[in-house]
Amino acid sequence: MKKRSLFLFPFLILTFTSLAQSEQCGITTFINNIKKSNPELYAKIKQNEKEYEKKVRESNITFVSDKNSYESKKFNHRNGGLSSIQSLCGYNNSYFGVGAAPTVLGGSLVANNIYGGDYITVTNMIAGRTYRISTCGNNDFDTQITVYTSGGTTCVAFNDDLCQNNQAEIYFTPFTTGNYDILLDEYDCQSTFIVSTNLIVELDYTPDPIITIPVVVHVVWNSTTQNISDAQINSQINVLNQDFRRTNTSISSAPIPFKGFSTDMRYQFCLAQQDPNGYPTNGITRTFTNKTLFDIPSGDSSIWFSSLGGQDSWDRTKYLNIWVCNLPGIPNPGLIGVGTFPWLGLAVPAIDGVVADYQAFGTMGTAVAPTNLGKNITHEVGHYLGLRHIWGDEANCAGSDSCFDTPNQTISSSGTPTFPFTDVCSPNYPGIMFNNFMDYSDDISKNMFTFFQFVRTDAAIRNGGIRASLATSPGCIPSTGFYENNFNDFFTIFPNPSRGKFIITQQKLINNPVMEIINVLGEVLYSSKLKDTKTEINLSIPPGIYLVKVSSEHNFVIRKMIID
Ligand SMILES: [Zn+2]
Repeated sequence: MKKRSLFLFPFLILTFTSLAQSEQCGITTFINNIKKSNPELYAKIKQNEKEYEKKVRESNITFVSDKNSYESKKFNHRNGGLSSIQSLCGYNNSYFGVGAAPTVLGGSLVANNIYGGDYITVTNMIAGRTYRISTCGNNDFDTQITVYTSGGTTCVAFNDDLCQNNQAEIYFTPFTTGNYDILLDEYDCQSTFIVSTNLIVELDYTPDPIITIPVVVHVVWNSTTQNISDAQINSQINVLNQDFRRTNTSISSAPIPFKGFSTDMRYQFCLAQQDPNGYPTNGITRTFTNKTLFDIPSGDSSIWFSSLGGQDSWDRTKYLNIWVCNLPGIPNPGLIGVGTFPWLGLAVPAIDGVVADYQAFGTMGTAVAPTNLGKNITHEVGHYLGLRHIWGDEANCAGSDSCFDTPNQTISSSGTPTFPFTDVCSPNYPGIMFNNFMDYSDDISKNMFTFFQFVRTDAAIRNGGIRASLATSPGCIPSTGFYENNFNDFFTIFPNPSRGKFIITQQKLINNPVMEIINVLGEVLYSSKLKDTKTEINLSIPPGIYLVKVSSEHNFVIRKMIID
């Protein structure tokens, strides 16, 4: 028998108790527990993590003009970065010139010798493409950039520092195609007419193809309430599809200086259409368990193993596994989700994926405020794709999420902060990005990822990353022509022949199967949904040869049946 107890943790309730009040998401505690209970495994995880970070740095070659800038950005992030912005500059600059947005990768529009207090109009900036707007490489004065829709109606982005010598840089992904005015000022929105500098608008990044990730949701339930509906599961998949494509309507309420850094992550999700064996599925498994609670923080790993009252994962190289069960977090403040980093999932394949409390999943049914808008899963899938907590898991301003376009932050946020919200690590306007999905604010306050968060996930799944195989998984493709090779495995009729009373047994549960009894003329005499693996049928029909057809949404199988 396969050994299943490989990953049981020792009881660490004391360690956890000190964290429980704020620890909604268990990933940090989880890894700390491994560190204490299994140093060898921990070393493996750290090695995977190191290689992952190397890949993130290498992915910077995507940015034509930014090679080797990773470390300098990291430095500037710690020492100011976004958080040194003093205020949003007003639309009161002098017109400098106009130019068309670059259209090819590496192409640029350069405004040479532009003064502080001037602006340029850039025409035809395309929605969804990311432009680098920058004065990096100059050292004439401490620049600040503000971006407005042309004519000054709406400020859409701004930043002070991000590169060396207090120069400004923005990675701007327009929501709508159009013309934009880019204002150059000295820091604190001052005009600097005595010295000029060079302002570059560069198309620095060509959007990668959109990747569709097949999802299987394992509902592991004890009370019938915990056995959440298909509709609730679909509501969560919808939220993921909106949040990872920046089509969530809540993005409109993001603070302006942060919205300009928001980005389309270019991932979408489907409930699996075929299971690991190629059989049709609705992407949902349902498992009754005797366990009333899955106490992951205390070292309980049973959710990941069928033999322990949980559910074994599907092939992690083809599916994002999401387990929905009763976690300790609700109603007691505490754990409501866990998402495995790519480097953790690689080291411990059986647990790879996301675990969520059934009350912090989807937008209906059992979901309860303030975790009833699906953002818990967006957050955990963020971890799954390589993102860290936005405050860097260290409460001393030294911890980092390794993203240069998220302000430094000391601890997790909670509730519904009001913008601007500052802290000791980001003491100036615009403060911390509490509205980022990788913070702990209430669902209603979280609405965006940034461009550098995208870059981190890119290292997970594209360019041969740890999760690259998800991009080519057939999981989202409806199963076709199934069971030809396993015809007898699919369903059985017993006894056959019969007098009209027989049992149909499904070997594999498929999506909403319908059974029909058809006579030799092709007439359907009887039709019924098959709700269980075994269905007893009692028919009163004349002796003869009949066909039994069992069909799902995409497929069907026919077998011959004799009534004598
Ligand atoms: Zn988290």
